[in-house]
Amino acid sequence: MNKLDSSLVVSALTDRGYELTDKATEADIIVINTCSVREHAEERVFSNLGHMKGLKRKRPHVIVAVIGCMAQRLGEELLAHEAVDIVAGPTQLHEVPDLIEQTLGDHEKHLSVTAQIRQPAASDEIVEASGKLDDFEIAYDSDANHIKSQAFIRAMRGCNNFCTYCIVPYVRGPEVSRPPLAVVEQAKKLVDSGIRQITLLGQTVNSYQYTENGKTYGLADLLQQVSEIDGVGWVRFITSHPGKFDTSILQVMADNPKVCPYLHIPAQSGSDRMLKAMNRGYTAADYIALMDTAREIVPDIAIAGDFIVGFPGETDEDFSQTVELVRRVRYKNAFVFKYSPRPGTHSEKKLVDDIPQEVKQQRNVQLLEVISEIAEEDNKRFLGQTVEVLVEGLSKKPHLNQAENENNPQLIGRTAGDYIVVFNGPESLTGKFAKVKVTKTAALTLFAELA
Ligand code: SAH
Ligand code: SF4
Repeated sequence: MNKLDSSLVVSALTDRGYELTDKATEADIIVINTCSVREHAEERVFSNLGHMKGLKRKRPHVIVAVIGCMAQRLGEELLAHEAVDIVAGPTQLHEVPDLIEQTLGDHEKHLSVTAQIRQPAASDEIVEASGKLDDFEIAYDSDANHIKSQAFIRAMRGCNNFCTYCIVPYVRGPEVSRPPLAVVEQAKKLVDSGIRQITLLGQTVNSYQYTENGKTYGLADLLQQVSEIDGVGWVRFITSHPGKFDTSILQVMADNPKVCPYLHIPAQSGSDRMLKAMNRGYTAADYIALMDTAREIVPDIAIAGDFIVGFPGETDEDFSQTVELVRRVRYKNAFVFKYSPRPGTHSEKKLVDDIPQEVKQQRNVQLLEVISEIAEEDNKRFLGQTVEVLVEGLSKKPHLNQAENENNPQLIGRTAGDYIVVFNGPESLTGKFAKVKVTKTAALTLFAELA
């Protein structure tokens, strides 16, 4: 979501004639997009702002804008920082070009955030904001090494789930879905400009819902509509919430070869006690049943997840239930996060962060080991198989076990199930689909040769 937001802000700025540089020391305007989901992400922003202070001493005309979730969360407090000139929340990203122009004119600090983001009026503000920013074509890929073959499109903003640990509903506001036509029109433009894969985004993208002329469109409808665009290769979506997950989404995956068989669907924990304390709205058994249904309807589905370890009160028994769930579901990959209390959330206010850092760390390592062990085992099934990949470009860190030469450098691609594949081939394949034969497998990577 933040990659998309960064791209959209850059598009809005280049549209006004600004030019992009990747060197902070050359920039006249520095925009820092931020995340509030864990404390560590915020700490990194403050350390960056420390550098900005030094930089502004040498080049006092430089304007520093802090945008995104931290801007919404801290507002005035961030604006008071010596290095900061502009603070704009996730709902105000479309205002960034104007805020910069104001600062250039009056040399004052400017703040723009939503006053009461959970009040009904905020929804109107978010709808309006979406109309002003989300349609911008993406001119810039924040992962600049890779040629643009894939693009993100926002399907919806915000979240109404209020998982007790999570800051997102308080900084991104209520759920608002975009009209299907807006998404489809944007996808068409991107496909016309050479994009082959579209990823639809939402904090809980399976809650996508838009009613128009008496008809309600869900995520399955949106996937179908985008997949029907001439020239589109693959369509995928992130992230899904396991509560109220409509099987029509699985059905469109099974029936439509353009809809990728990939589901990122965080469980967060395998303990019912923890799931309840997290307000996730399902039990471990519900989650497992849903994953079984997913595999029944889409046999080759790749399932990815997120877990939080060290949530308040998590015992060894709770943790072992998480390990058990991981062994049962067999993820393609899963991210593991150590619980981090976020100011203003239910769990920060009502629960004690009582799991020692060492225990969180040890559970984190142990869970990652189990996830990796399973992925390594499961990936062996690809050996000798020919798979289709969308080629992203040159591999950033060439793997030593694959010989490289100038005409046949090491490339990186991804399968429809989002498996990373490393193989040698001409760089001209970048942005195209290719068939490769898997010769070696590991937990996170498949190695292959052009078929
Ligand atoms: N909307 C998505 C992602 C939300 S944030 C979803 O619901 O799946 C991404 C991940 O960060 C979450 O899935 C969760 O695992 C983790 N996370 C969120 N808040 C956290 C916190 N306070 N401490 C640790 N991890 C957290
Ligand atoms: Fe946060 Fe839960 Fe919403 Fe995901 S579903 S963004 S974890 S509140």
